[in-house]
Amino acid sequence: MQDCLFCRIVRGEIPAAKVYEDEEVLAFRDIQPQRPVHVLVIPKRHITSLAHATEADIPVLGRMLAVANQIAVDQGSTDGFRSIINTGRVGGQEVMHVHMHIVGGQEPVGPML
Ligand code: C5P
Repeated sequence: MQDCLFCRIVRGEIPAAKVYEDEEVLAFRDIQPQRPVHVLVIPKRHITSLAHATEADIPVLGRMLAVANQIAVDQGSTDGFRSIINTGRVGGQEVMHVHMHIVGGQEPVGPML
């Protein structure tokens, strides 16, 4: 997607503080962190939201989950983290490229809702 913000980060057109990268997934620090650890994990290939995901996206979505703990630990959240994927208008999704927030740090992150 030409104008997608996160696709532009994947292409290196917009700077980001990358913390993890493999052939399918990129992770970078959220520009407005809500906790000491706040990282976004995204598929490199554009998927607009979980409402747009298809069978073909299962491997990369699984990979996003599978790499989350190592990213959290590497960033200093060594005793757990919250993983959040906002979807669509009701979910409060602001950037229309699937992203999983990894939120943590040394303190519990508190109630979810
Ligand atoms: O889940 P939602 O779409 O609301 O979250 C978007 C997130 O993307 C926000 O936490 C925002 O701070 C982050 N962001 C970013 N870098 C950008 C633009 C947005 O980390 N260049």
